Amino acid sequence: MENCIFCKIVHGQIPNFTVYQDEHTLPFLDIHPVTKGHTVVIPKVHAETLLDLNGEITKEFFLGVQHALERVEKILSPDGFSIGWNHGRAGGQAVPHLHVHIIPRSEGDGGGSMHSIIKKPSDVSVEELAKLFA
Ligand code: AMP
Ligand code: ZN
Repeated sequence: MENCIFCKIVHGQIPNFTVYQDEHTLPFLDIHPVTKGHTVVIPKVHAETLLDLNGEITKEFFLGVQHALERVEKILSPDGFSIGWNHGRAGGQAVPHLHVHIIPRSEGDGGGSMHSIIKKPSDVSVEELAKLFA
C-alpha cells in the first residue's frame, strides 16, 4: 500500500525503533508513547483490520505479538499491561494498517481498564441479544 505509513516503516522508508521482528511481524516503539515502552505491533503485510488479515498470517502475527510482549516484559518488567487495538475509525483507529498496542502499566498509574473506554450499555437485554447468536 503506497501511502500507508506503516507499510513505509516495513519497507524501511520511514525509520522505527524496532523491539523485535520476525518474518511476519514488526513491533516498534510508538512515537507518541502513552507510557514508557508503549509498543505497536504490526503485520508486515498490509491489512486494514484483523478482518482483512489472512488466517494463516493471523496465527503468525499473534505469535509475534506474544514475542514482542515477552521482550517488553523482559526489558522493562512493568507491573502489568493494557494490550489491544483500535478497530475502525469509530473504534479510534487512526492508522489504517492493523496494529496491536502493547502498553506497559504500573500500579497506581491512574489509567483505566478496557471497561473505561466506553460506557454505553445496550438497550436490549443480554438474553435478548444472545438469541441473535444462537
Ligand atoms: P491508532 O490510533 O490505534 O491508529 O494508533 C496509531 C499509533 O501509531 C499512535 O499511537 C501513533 O503514535 C503511532 N504512530 C504513528 N506514526 C508512527 C511512527 N512513524 N512511528 C511510531 N509510531 C507511530
Ligand atoms: Zn500498510
